[in-house]
Formats: sequence, structure tokens, C-alpha cells
Amino acid sequence: MTKISPHGLLRRWSALGVSPGDSEDLRLKKTVMTFVSSSIAFLAIFWGGLYLYSGYPLSGAIPLSYSLISFASTLHFFRTKRFALFCFSQQLLILLLPFLLMWSLGGFANGSVVMIWAFFAPLAALFFIDLKAATRWLMAFLVLLLFSAALDQTFAAHARPMPAELNTLYFLMNTGCGFVLIGMMLYYFVKDRESAYQKLQRSELHVRELMLTDPLTGVANRRHLDDRLAMELARQARYGQPLSVIMTDIDRFKLVNDTYGHTVGDAVLRAFAHQLRKSIRNSDFIARYGGEEFVLLLPNTAIEEAVALAERMRESIRAHCFEHSGLCMTASFGVTIALPDESMSEVLSRVDEAMYQSKTNGRDRVTMLAE
Ligand code: GH3
Ligand code: MG
Ligand code: MG
Repeated sequence: MTKISPHGLLRRWSALGVSPGDSEDLRLKKTVMTFVSSSIAFLAIFWGGLYLYSGYPLSGAIPLSYSLISFASTLHFFRTKRFALFCFSQQLLILLLPFLLMWSLGGFANGSVVMIWAFFAPLAALFFIDLKAATRWLMAFLVLLLFSAALDQTFAAHARPMPAELNTLYFLMNTGCGFVLIGMMLYYFVKDRESAYQKLQRSELHVRELMLTDPLTGVANRRHLDDRLAMELARQARYGQPLSVIMTDIDRFKLVNDTYGHTVGDAVLRAFAHQLRKSIRNSDFIARYGGEEFVLLLPNTAIEEAVALAERMRESIRAHCFEHSGLCMTASFGVTIALPDESMSEVLSRVDEAMYQSKTNGRDRVTMLAE
């Protein structure tokens, strides 16, 4: 059985306001708003009840009205999904704040930090509107604060002072609640940002992979080859280790397409790439250079070794007949080695030249051009 924590329940409750099409940001705003306002509304019931129980009905009326308004607006939001209206009704609660400040404990003189933490939700809602509207709400708050101060004077004569123990208890509860709520909000924000960041990282990685991979054969594409060759050339220049390069092209591939169709041609290409990939080491690199041409980079490999590898590949391609058509084929290879301080295009044009010589000399062969 899965255990459900109160925190987990509150999270599920908060998620009720989220719609499937919401952006990451809107989802966060909605969840934080409902999460905070609901936590406060639940606690406010308890607070109001405690005031009533202790014989302060006027003080109890504030948190209880708060709860009522907050729950009504949250439930309305869950039903209608009207987030703007929900924020508005939460902001409306700001108008209760001055009365709470003055009345909940009979004025500032007797203040035991009052339920000021209850205003996290309306304050949070202020962040979702523009500065002008937020300023208007704060002005309304100031006016009402003055008004409630006047009322406070009237009520002061009838106010029953709170016993010292009760005052201390409220002080503890209010400070405690304030810190717990701030802590929960920070925790939630940080966790949410972390997971959003991880998602972003994953999708960036995915996009990068898409950008660098040939979709048909799954090997690296031309862009990736350029990056890798530049890197390998820099490494060769620095450490002086030999960098061999092989280029290969399927012989008479046009014929495959013309005879069997493009789909079979594609399957043959995939099988060809697979066959090449099987023959190389992990530290080697293979890329699709063009239509049915592939380039292999072999770092730290002498040219004789590269020629031997190309010969093995040529043999295995020749021996391999492709499943669906029983089609057998050959490929031509060119092999070279990068010279000190050579550019990428110089290396590539020499290996292309070597491959071209294999073609003109009758195909199905390996040609080496060392310089
Ligand atoms: P050669 O022995 O001289 O290389 O002869 P070839 O027929 O292979 O000649 P060439 O290299 O010029 O032909 C390349 C052909 O590869 C032309 C094009 O139809 C085919 N091709 C290129 N890209 C793809 C692809 O993605 N899928 C398929 N099915 N065919 C492709
Ligand atoms: Mg070809
Ligand atoms: Mg070609």
C-alpha cells in the first residue's frame, strides 16, 4: 500500500486546478496559489475555532471568514478553472488584513504577532498581476488600515484583554506557522525548479542528439563529423598521435534503388552502416558523409592498420547478403592519414581522392593515399 502524507494530499489537492494544456510556468503558479491558499484556509479554521473556544468571537470571526472566502474561491476555481478570477478573489482577502491586524488580538498593544502569515496567499496573488493593479490593492489596504484603527478605538472599550498564557500560545503558534509556511513554499519552489531544470536538460540533450545524428542510419551526421574531425585534428597536432581516415561508398547503389525501389535502398543503407559500425572500436567514429558515403575516423591508428581494417570491412560487406532481397553488394574504400597541421578539407579531399581511385580502378577495393 502506498503511504499518503498530508503534504502529498495537499499536493494532489493543489493539482486539481491544473489543466492539461498549461505551460510549465502557469502550472507552477496555479499549484503554488492553490497550495498556499488551501494550507492557510485549513489552518484558519483551526485558529478561528480556538478563538471561539477561548471566548473571543470577534477575533474568531476574522479567520473563519477568511477560510470561508478562500475555500469558496478555491472550489470555484477547481470547477471553472478560471485562474484570473481565483487570483482576484484571493487578492480580495487583502481587504480583511487590516481588521485582522486590529481585531484579532485587540490592537497592536496586545499583538502576539497575529495571523499575519495568512496573507501569503493574497500576497502571492499580487505577483501574478501588473504593478498598477498591485499598487491599487495595497492602497486599498492602507485606507482600510486607517479605518480599522478608528474602529479599534471604538471596540477597545469593550475588548476583553487576553490572558498572558493565551497570548504566549498565540505568539508561538503564529510565529511557528509563519516559518513553516515560508519553509514549505521555498521547498516547493526549489523542488519544482529543480525538476523543471532536469527536464530542460534532458530535452536539450535529446535535441543535441537529433542535431548530430543521421535519422536513417543512426550514425553521426555531417555536422557531427565536422566537429569531431576538428577535435581529432587538434588532438593529433597536440599529442602527435596518428589519425587515420577511411571513406567508403557503396558500388552501383543507384542500381539497387532502380531495381528494388527506394525503401529497399534505405534498408540496405541501414544494414551497410550497421556492418561498418560493427567493425570499429569504441574510440573510433563513424559518420554518414553523403547519400551512401561514410567516413570513419580512427584516432591513434597507423595507416597500415587502417588499411587492414578497410580490407576486413570490404570483405565483410562482400560476404554479407541483405536479408529481404538476397541482394549482395560491394563497396569501395579510400584510406589516408592526417599530416601535421593539415586542415579538415585537405584530409577529406585526399581520402575522397583515394576512394575515387578505387572506383576508377574497378570498385570493390581499398586504395591508400598517404600524402
Ligand atoms: P558508384 O559505384 O560509382 O558509387 O555508383 P553509384 O550508383 O553508387 O553512384 P552514386 O554514388 O553517384 O549514387 C548514389 C545513389 O545513392 C544516388 C541516390 O539515388 C542514392 N541515394 C542517396 N541517398 C539515398 C538514401 O538516403 N536512400 C536511398 N535509398 N538511396 C539514396
Ligand atoms: Mg556509390
Ligand atoms: Mg556516392
